Amino acid sequence: MFLISLAFSQNPKIRYADHDRFSRFVVETDEEIEYRIFFQGEFSVRLELSGDFDISPIKNMESRLLKSLQVNRQEGKTILILNFKKSSTWKLFELYEPFRIVVDVKERPKGRIIKPLVRTIVLDPGHGGGETGAVGKGGTAEKKLSLIFSKELKTILERNLGVRVILTREDDSFVSLDERTSIANNAKADLFISIHFNYSQDPSVKGPETYFLSYEATDTESRLMAYRENLGKIKEAPSSDIELILWDMAQSQYLYQSSRLAEMIQMELSSELGVKNRGVKQAPFKVLMGATMPAVLVEVDFISNPDEEKLLLKQDFREGLEMAVFRGIEKYISFLR
Ligand SMILES: [Zn+2]
Repeated sequence: MFLISLAFSQNPKIRYADHDRFSRFVVETDEEIEYRIFFQGEFSVRLELSGDFDISPIKNMESRLLKSLQVNRQEGKTILILNFKKSSTWKLFELYEPFRIVVDVKERPKGRIIKPLVRTIVLDPGHGGGETGAVGKGGTAEKKLSLIFSKELKTILERNLGVRVILTREDDSFVSLDERTSIANNAKADLFISIHFNYSQDPSVKGPETYFLSYEATDTESRLMAYRENLGKIKEAPSSDIELILWDMAQSQYLYQSSRLAEMIQMELSSELGVKNRGVKQAPFKVLMGATMPAVLVEVDFISNPDEEKLLLKQDFREGLEMAVFRGIEKYISFLR
């Protein structure tokens, strides 16, 4: 037994090598480990491994593109910062048996104008018209807050990202869930972001929850949430094979990008609200199903928390949260490069 546990707690093996068009950096472990990767500019990438590992830093890497490897440990995580010699792009993937995290680094082409990867963003203010959504103790309706927030966010995104932003509703009118995704699909939007405010029986709960699509909700709370946001229009999953196939064709090919977008928004909102990042969640939201682009649903904060409800009515407080969503989108766009 002792030997087995020793085998599983072995340190990851680090390797790197130059190839024709890229340099490859590999973390190899005996078993799958959790990790996160973060964009941090064109000269480095940050890879956070769950667990305390004894990995040696490398000062001078013998590589065309890889410069050095810094290693830090904090709160049960081992943080690897891989620095590049030149302005570079990277992609990450996994290999199995043994488990490997692979980062391929490629020099960014010089003098070539990077074409904008995100030109059009559709913001979807949740609810509207007769459909109020959640209501805070002070009487604030989710439909009203989601519209104000989306309008302000639109201004911030247009100003800072130079993108076109379309809202699925401009006023207090009812828009069906299918229409909302149709608007995004017809506009050939690059991102679809549905804006909501959360509700809990526990008035002390606060913080963001960011979702991307799945059939199976990650937990009971998420299942209830999807049910409420879907207004009971779908059950657990699309009911017929035809619907299932349609769904496969639409959002399924964007799930990875959607999950990354969700992660980056969730991380920024959590730090803005000063709460622990509880990670992103998956749930079967009907409004995300037909979207032919990366799509997420953001429950910005809880209006069921009276303190938060009061704060959310203040423009400067909302602006902090809107800037956090903007930073999340900005990080996502950088991650695409
Ligand atoms: Zn809602």
